[in-house]
Amino acid sequence: MQKVLVLDKHKHPLMPCSPARARRLLGSKKAAVFRRYPFTIIPKERAGGELQPVELKLDPGSKTTGIALVSEGKTGKKLCFAANLQHRGQLVKESLDSRRAIRRSRRNRTTRYRKPRFLNRTRPEGWLPPSLISRVQNVETWSKRLCRSVPVTSIAVEAVRFDTQIMENPNIAGTGYQRGTLFGTELREYLLYRDGHRCCYCKGASKDTILNVEHFIPRAKNGSNRLGNLFIACRKCNEDKGSLLPETWLESLKKSKSALNRVRVKQVTKLLGGQRPNCYRDAAAANATRYATGNAVKSIGLPTTFWSGGRTKFNRTQQGYSKDHWIDAACVGETGVDVKIARSLRPLLIKATGRGSRQMCRVSKYGFPRTKAKGAKIVKGFQTGDIVKAVVPSGKKQGTHVGKVAVRSSGSFNITAGTTLQGISYRHCTLLQKTDGYAYY
Ligand SMILES: [Zn+2]
Repeated sequence: MQKVLVLDKHKHPLMPCSPARARRLLGSKKAAVFRRYPFTIIPKERAGGELQPVELKLDPGSKTTGIALVSEGKTGKKLCFAANLQHRGQLVKESLDSRRAIRRSRRNRTTRYRKPRFLNRTRPEGWLPPSLISRVQNVETWSKRLCRSVPVTSIAVEAVRFDTQIMENPNIAGTGYQRGTLFGTELREYLLYRDGHRCCYCKGASKDTILNVEHFIPRAKNGSNRLGNLFIACRKCNEDKGSLLPETWLESLKKSKSALNRVRVKQVTKLLGGQRPNCYRDAAAANATRYATGNAVKSIGLPTTFWSGGRTKFNRTQQGYSKDHWIDAACVGETGVDVKIARSLRPLLIKATGRGSRQMCRVSKYGFPRTKAKGAKIVKGFQTGDIVKAVVPSGKKQGTHVGKVAVRSSGSFNITAGTTLQGISYRHCTLLQKTDGYAYY
């Protein structure tokens, strides 16, 4: 079990206590619940207490960040709290993309032709795209929250370092390594080197010697310019594929029995199955946010140390732990050499959900308003994302339900706790915790 976080009566953090002790305190009314997620209690009389060093350890990843609190007592280092924080990077990108598409179509619809304006928008130094800055801020928010309810004395961060070049060729050294893959080398040259100067689709079976850079998912179908989507293809394959999606092309290839097409079918299937030479999407996101995350955590003002991913892996395998983000976080750095992790410990799953949408109403596929303007965010004192307890006295949904609420202006709410219960009246609901931009599991 996770330890329970404890605040004293002045809301200063105390050492986390065991669930059994928390249950006793709550049972005898000597303490009250301060927060549901992460579970925090507040004893009514206590002020101050003995503190031991606690380290907050973070393993920032592109999709999930591992969070661990490791306390150092007489019996050694012990993991007392763990969480996996899920980011919403891709969601941010998708909603910005859809907004951009709507605005573009609106501008194009009835206006005269406008020349593109010159590029006069400069980005401030340290600018990161919104999807990445959301990751940085998630980590910062949770570091600060935990520092408020646990007496954290130091922070250790895994400065995620998978060098794309090291993955490619571990012996690489000198300037080439320092400059990174794309710096100074032409993209094409890099791809040729990566794909071994051979067509990715036919492996040279077409006998065409002219090699092109190929978008696996074509530009016309919103394929990106990232390395994971770029391959070397011979001119013949490139032209045959045209602007078809790989799946569509594969279907038409399967109908033919020629030797060339049989090779192609095999290769395209491989590429579709995820066996692409290297997909750096996750790596790039983690590297771009690396410094930003480090600086954000440093700004809390506690002694902060940075460690490499190699060290984490070494510590984890030495102790025979399985791979998970929160376990990795516990194993970060020098202090991760000998950490006791109870078998029964289950991490808290925290999912970044955002705080609603700013869009005023839904639009049709032509960009025209489709619904009426949305109503108030708060209905009868409740907001979507609040954690509520509903006691339904009678009817089909009779019983006590605790979960995340989704409000409707009619006052008939949905409550999600594993499954979704529809049509629970606001009259039966009591608020347990206000929404804070995260969902908990
Ligand atoms: Zn080819």
